[in-house]
Amino acid sequence: MSRTRVLRPDEKSLALAAGLLRDGGLVAFPTETVYGLGARAYDAAAARRVYKAKGRPSDNPLIVHVADEAMLADVVKRVTPLARRLIDAFWPGPLTLILEKSARVPGAVTAGGRTVAVRCPGHPAARALIRALGEPIAAPSANLSGRPSPTTAAHVLRDLRGRVPLILDGGPCRKGLESTIVDARGLRPVVLRHGTITGESLSRAAGVPLRAPGGSAPASPGTGHRHYAPACRVILAPPALVRRGALALDASGDGLLHRAPWPGRRPAFARRVRGGASAYATALFSALRDAEAAGVRTLYVETVPDRGVGRAVMDRLRRAARR
Ligand code: AMP
Ligand code: MG
Repeated sequence: MSRTRVLRPDEKSLALAAGLLRDGGLVAFPTETVYGLGARAYDAAAARRVYKAKGRPSDNPLIVHVADEAMLADVVKRVTPLARRLIDAFWPGPLTLILEKSARVPGAVTAGGRTVAVRCPGHPAARALIRALGEPIAAPSANLSGRPSPTTAAHVLRDLRGRVPLILDGGPCRKGLESTIVDARGLRPVVLRHGTITGESLSRAAGVPLRAPGGSAPASPGTGHRHYAPACRVILAPPALVRRGALALDASGDGLLHRAPWPGRRPAFARRVRGGASAYATALFSALRDAEAAGVRTLYVETVPDRGVGRAVMDRLRRAARR
């Protein structure tokens, strides 16, 4: 494949996208979390194309995106009472549920497993695309495996040019961080990946406390893989060091992503995000990619308190900093 088209999602481009998917092809599309690289969920060969385009390890399953209850019923064996409560509270939205898969979902989508990850996105273009296809879409994030998730069409193009025929450009993603993943098979929610829907709000909606992962609950396979690594080295910096200007930033090759004021000399790349952890979450992946594009060799990133949405931010940051 060679040409990659980037089109605004309108009636015409959505019909084109649905046609590509129906034929077993791939389409990148916006969601409120990050951009997804989609394929027909009921087509094993199409799902395998997703792994190939991303260079994704075959043991890391995809998330199935549905537009309504009827599609959900086709994807899973049973909607547990816990899943029902979480769906009522958070769908459409950035919450992915792990449930027993139905016979219709091929093993290529679930990496051979008996469970499936399913989510109903809130982004209008994502919903319109699923509706236009009339079937669920399996989609992981639309980045090359191991790279930061894409939050703009330009990010997708940078990673997947020539590997996907069409990118639907819905502008920057509102959340900017991947969905919260919850195992909803049992009586209590088990958070497998933190996201912008916090553990506190999940537990409140479920009416029961969370259960800690581990034991009989399977870990989310993707969380074991190397992830979110930009080309530059990432070093975590506590807010106090930023505020005091106590980082030895080299003007040429260093960068800084921060919230607190930086009193020192401005390095080659600096981005200040104003606002709380949610604003930081939205800006994070974009900043990692921009720092990389600016030729930054070492990016210092101010940490946020490890609670609420900050927990998801710190989860991604620790992975980005891991070498
Ligand atoms: P991505 O959309 O790129 O964030 O990738 C999908 C994420 O969902 C990965 O972290 C997967 O490991 C996770 N996932 C998909 N299916 C399952 C499943 N059946 N059980 C647990 N985690 C899953
Ligand atoms: Mg991903």
